[in-house]
Amino acid sequence: MFTPLTGRTVLVTGGTKGIGKGIAGVFARAGANVVVVGRDRERGEAAAAELGAAYVAADVGRAEDCERMAAETVERFGGVDVLCANAGVFPDARLEDMSEADIDAIFATNVKGTMLSVKACLPALERSGHGRVVLTSSITGPVTGYPGWSHYGATKAAQLGFLRTAAIELAAKGITINAVMPGNIETEGLDELGPEYRRKMESSIPQRKLGTVEDIGYAALFLATDEAGYITGQTIVVDGGQVLPESMMALEAQ
Ligand code: NAP
Repeated sequence: MFTPLTGRTVLVTGGTKGIGKGIAGVFARAGANVVVVGRDRERGEAAAAELGAAYVAADVGRAEDCERMAAETVERFGGVDVLCANAGVFPDARLEDMSEADIDAIFATNVKGTMLSVKACLPALERSGHGRVVLTSSITGPVTGYPGWSHYGATKAAQLGFLRTAAIELAAKGITINAVMPGNIETEGLDELGPEYRRKMESSIPQRKLGTVEDIGYAALFLATDEAGYITGQTIVVDGGQVLPESMMALEAQ
């Protein structure tokens, strides 16, 4: 049996939409106090109302916003027990068309934003006595590649480089830090890529279906439990087996 997370305070960056909203919903239903963070106020307030969560408007790429997001969470709920550093962007660009600004923008949210969010929450996470950080990385970058996403893949791999040293530093503070690596997850963003993309994606996954935002939420929930307290610096791939086939023939032979 897992110790209930009732009354724990969970801050979810990018919790106003997509995977982050799914993570926030899983924690809210587990009885946690949930704070969702995003830049778009209208979307943030609507998501918070739907989830029974609180909303803080912040851009994780800015240190002062991250400090404020941590401070407002502490002010409202008395602390931070869990940080899900999930906010991320995935614009596509082929390398030959990619500008310096494109590279800076994606690193600002996905890498700098992850690091600043963790740094801002450290004092509160340490005070909790059982601090938990769960990053949302991806299979894209650390395990796989996809044309148009070389900069995105670089940011998702960079998160894992950060994770491994942060885990050693945070161990002394009683904080664990781990990452979930989603495959293709059913979100509004994925819908925009069209039905043909979806059909082909489903056929390349051994389970023949996309993941749900709750699939990622439950992995994050596990990593946030007291019982997962001896796991740190690790990753969990949640992808329906997507990274396993060594060729299309492996799927055809299924
Ligand atoms: P999404 O639906 O586009 O949602 C992104 C969320 O992040 C929104 O709440 C957005 O709100 C917020 N956000 C973006 N930039 C931000 C910033 N600078 N500061 C604060 N909030 C920011 O994306 P998603 O598909 O759920 O992806 C979430 C995470 O999962 C990302 O880290 C992504 O790399 C990862 N992932 C997704 C998939 C997938 O299949 N969808 C697969 C692997 C990994 P605002 O725009 O209002 O700020």
